[in-house]
Amino acid sequence: ADAAIDALLEGLNPPQRDAVVHGEGPLLILAGAGSGKTRVLTHRIAYLLRTGQAKPSEILAITFTNKAASEMRERVELLVGRATRAMWVMTFHAACARMLRADAHRLGYTRQFTIYDSADQRRLIKKCLDDLDVDVKRFTPRAMQSQISDAKNKLRSPEDYRQLVGSFFEQTVADVYDLYERELHRSNAMDFDDLLVRSVNLLEMFQEVRDRYSAAFRWIMVDEYQDTNHVQYRWLQLLTGDHRNLAVVGDDAQSIYGFRGADIKNILNFEDDYPDAHVVKLEQNYRSTQTILDAANAVISNNRGQMTKHLWTDVGEGDPVRVREMADEHAESRFVTAEVNRLVDEGVSRAEIAIFYRTNAQSRVLEDMLVRAGVGYQIIGGTKFYERAEIKDAVNYLTFLVNPQDGTAFTRIANSPRRGLGQTSMSRVLAHAASMGMTVWDAAIDDIPGLATAARKSLERFMSTMTRLKERVEGGAPVAQLLQELLEETGYKEALEAERTIEAQGRLENLEELVRVTQEYDANNPEGNIGEFLQQIALLADADTIRDDEGLVTLMTLHNAKGLEFPIVFIIGMEDGTFPHSRSIEEGNIDEERRLAYVGLTRAMRDLTLTYARRRGAFGGSMGGPTIRSRFLDEIPRDLTDQRQRLSAGFPAPGRVASWAGAAQASAEVAGDTDGSVFRIGEDVVHSKLGEGVVTGLEPGGIVVVRFAGDGSERKLMADYAPLKRR
Ligand code: ATP
Ligand code: MG
Repeated sequence: ADAAIDALLEGLNPPQRDAVVHGEGPLLILAGAGSGKTRVLTHRIAYLLRTGQAKPSEILAITFTNKAASEMRERVELLVGRATRAMWVMTFHAACARMLRADAHRLGYTRQFTIYDSADQRRLIKKCLDDLDVDVKRFTPRAMQSQISDAKNKLRSPEDYRQLVGSFFEQTVADVYDLYERELHRSNAMDFDDLLVRSVNLLEMFQEVRDRYSAAFRWIMVDEYQDTNHVQYRWLQLLTGDHRNLAVVGDDAQSIYGFRGADIKNILNFEDDYPDAHVVKLEQNYRSTQTILDAANAVISNNRGQMTKHLWTDVGEGDPVRVREMADEHAESRFVTAEVNRLVDEGVSRAEIAIFYRTNAQSRVLEDMLVRAGVGYQIIGGTKFYERAEIKDAVNYLTFLVNPQDGTAFTRIANSPRRGLGQTSMSRVLAHAASMGMTVWDAAIDDIPGLATAARKSLERFMSTMTRLKERVEGGAPVAQLLQELLEETGYKEALEAERTIEAQGRLENLEELVRVTQEYDANNPEGNIGEFLQQIALLADADTIRDDEGLVTLMTLHNAKGLEFPIVFIIGMEDGTFPHSRSIEEGNIDEERRLAYVGLTRAMRDLTLTYARRRGAFGGSMGGPTIRSRFLDEIPRDLTDQRQRLSAGFPAPGRVASWAGAAQASAEVAGDTDGSVFRIGEDVVHSKLGEGVVTGLEPGGIVVVRFAGDGSERKLMADYAPLKRR
């Protein structure tokens, strides 16, 4: 036997090997997290190539993300060398786009068809709404977009959709969908969903195309099969119809994209579709400690109808899952940041640490704390809080209110939400300001030559709202009040609400989070004003303060964590209403949330910490007030956990008067801290590891700067969590 083949099979357990060497015919690998499903796929590709059963060009391997695709390609390359270029290892979308370049002419498109991204798509939908005289306030482009996308993922044409119409809203969608499709085609363009739909059309309508591709891709493999939707399912069916060499891997317990049309039945019914499928179960987990696995299994066992799997590991029992109660979200972030620093002090690389949360908006408090502590971080599959579009919009509204000369702010907000103020109109305002030597604000309320009547009217309405708001700014309104009023009065919030999409809801959550930022600001700065507030957040958003030479901590939503693994994992916000998300509680759809919890817990290799806050949004906001800890926490057997409440567990603090108040910029979350672990500049302290030292500075975020006598080094420590005492 070929030594290389032996080597390839060596790192596999018997069922994994069985799956890797399985020859022709359908193959299903249904197994729990971390059992080597993805590894089996890469080894299987390598094996097929090595044994000469497959040529690289005969392989089509589908992954869920581009990142996963490039990882898979790299791993195969490691196993078989660089003969891999002809393989198709990519996402559904990428594979379809490639197919269509070659054959789109059959559907009446040219090779050069354009792919519309989400923004292009909305622009076209907006045009269709206008052409149909639909009220875009009631039927927003985004709402239409999400309905149309949903229909396409179910392979419903405009005609099919029309058959199912049950409400006036759906009637409107049907009209818009119909026109939108015709316009797309006329523009020789496809949106993202079309890539799949048109590929399916192509394969269904042209036998010779189907024959060509199914002959070409004799070996098809799909990772994360539990998250495929109907159109993807159909596409695979068409491609594998003849040879049936379809190998899929997945885990029904990790199906988390139901809200986007993924259909868990695709994996559950695989054996019905292919009665002769070879089924392999993998039960050994190579990723996590037994404790982490037991915790995850205990949680998922609360879902009825979940296939039971018996995962075991020989990694060892490991440490208990740490569950930590925090006073509020600030204490939570401070704790996580301090833990990151402690781990790094112990020699862990930041790159080994991941922090997960349920919704994007939760990253803000954490980001603030990490920035202040100088901890480098990256957000995978998302944008840093202050770089998110809706946050930038809101900030630019505030900016324009205090800086009437800011043309960039003006252009950003004048047509957001849409008010019919196009690029041309905005340019005219700016040109007018320049030629008359006026501020942009004054120009915008002036009589501008050449402005179309409709644009003039919208501009007038917009500026009269802005003028009203500006009066309140001048009257000294608190920042939070102003922000809330502006989000209402400019129609910004309403436009998002009208969208009725999950994305829009995420944006609204982010804006609520920004409102909380302003509420905290107001509380801490009774004498503050908008200009100063803007300056503060501009400084926070400045990434220069971050050193990334020590690796970056990874932050992401639980959804984005799928398929990944990290030695050390934190999941924050383990509260009912946050996780499980309130929307799922209202809809009685906890099962998908529980699967998401399973995904999150099983990312951890050896160290897992779950935190929750007793209060969240203490300064008000829609989530303000006391919380209930997540039901998922109580589903983990207590003996697997180490639970601690940190409420007033800090040091007793007699005589430790508010020394933070002396620190120039001490923030309220420090002053208001329940732990009472406060230090003064000049105070003698002792650290359990670093020995004696003196406090040389205090910084916001609860950071004490200490110069240590031993080596003369100066270090920044988190006052609450460093093993530091007054001497
Ligand atoms: P998920 O369900 O989270 O996608 P998975 O089933 O795809 O997980 P992999 O990511 O393939 O699991 O494997 C998990 C970890 O276990 C990886 O680090 C992988 O390299 C390792 N692993 C898998 N099988 C073996 C094995 N037989 N020997 C050593 N390590 C293995
Ligand atoms: Mg995997």
